[in-house]
Amino acid sequence: MLKYSEELAKIKVNKSGAVVSLHKPLLLLLTIADVIQGKSNEFNFREIEEHLKLLLSKYGLKNIKALKPEYPFVYLGSSPTLWKCSIDKSMLKNPNSVTRAEALEAVAKFEDNFYSYLQNIQHAKGLVWQLLNEFWPEAYHEDLLRDLGLDGLLNETIVQEVQKQRRGRLFVEEVLDSYERQCAICNQSIRLGDALIGIDACHVKPIQHFGDDHITNGIALCKIHHWALDRGAISISENRDLLISPKLNGSRINEYFHEFAQKPIFLPRNSSFHLNEENVSYHRKYVFEGGR
Ligand SMILES: [Zn+2]
Repeated sequence: MLKYSEELAKIKVNKSGAVVSLHKPLLLLLTIADVIQGKSNEFNFREIEEHLKLLLSKYGLKNIKALKPEYPFVYLGSSPTLWKCSIDKSMLKNPNSVTRAEALEAVAKFEDNFYSYLQNIQHAKGLVWQLLNEFWPEAYHEDLLRDLGLDGLLNETIVQEVQKQRRGRLFVEEVLDSYERQCAICNQSIRLGDALIGIDACHVKPIQHFGDDHITNGIALCKIHHWALDRGAISISENRDLLISPKLNGSRINEYFHEFAQKPIFLPRNSSFHLNEENVSYHRKYVFEGGR
């Protein structure tokens, strides 16, 4: 278990260290989900291209112009204990940028021992949860599992609970205190007696994208605005006004969102607790569904 868990963790490290890559984890989720659903150990690029493209468009980074599902299909081969592809770098015209034409006839499989390991469904599910927790905030998990055909895992919350406990208590207290225990967007601050209801300490640059647990990466939000921030339905401008994705729609949207559009969010009195622009601009660039 540990071995493959560590192998999966390794795919997270990227050269710059600043931006997470979601291509390989999406390919792994797609193919592990196929194995859970009884598929044999053979994946043709042609067959999975469309599904992988859809996943990349919905759950990949938002700044990407070309989705390039051929990249993870070929380059996951650089983790030989996980993935074997019929094409490797040495066979490409340009080793670092495989083309779709080159990938079209490619066939890949999980390395034999890894495939045997995945035959144990609990192992396979454990790795699915690991990938979800390491690469996406919780707000994405339900939709992503549905798109993988793994809705059944939604009732299996054990791993999610463990993940929650890992979040720093200090971060939560600092954020709630400095934001005066109210949502920075709608000012909601409902209590039952003394107990605050439904206000979260949220990360602006997701921890899954190497965001930190420092107050300058934190903001207090109600549940609905927390979800909206994590999913990129809203973001924050350089002037700290609220931005709203043009893709957001539905009833009572004015009341929950448009009423606050282009208006300043609440900021802590102490300016050294204010959001760091690097974290906010990361969110605008890679997470926000800005309507491109
Ligand atoms: Zn709110």
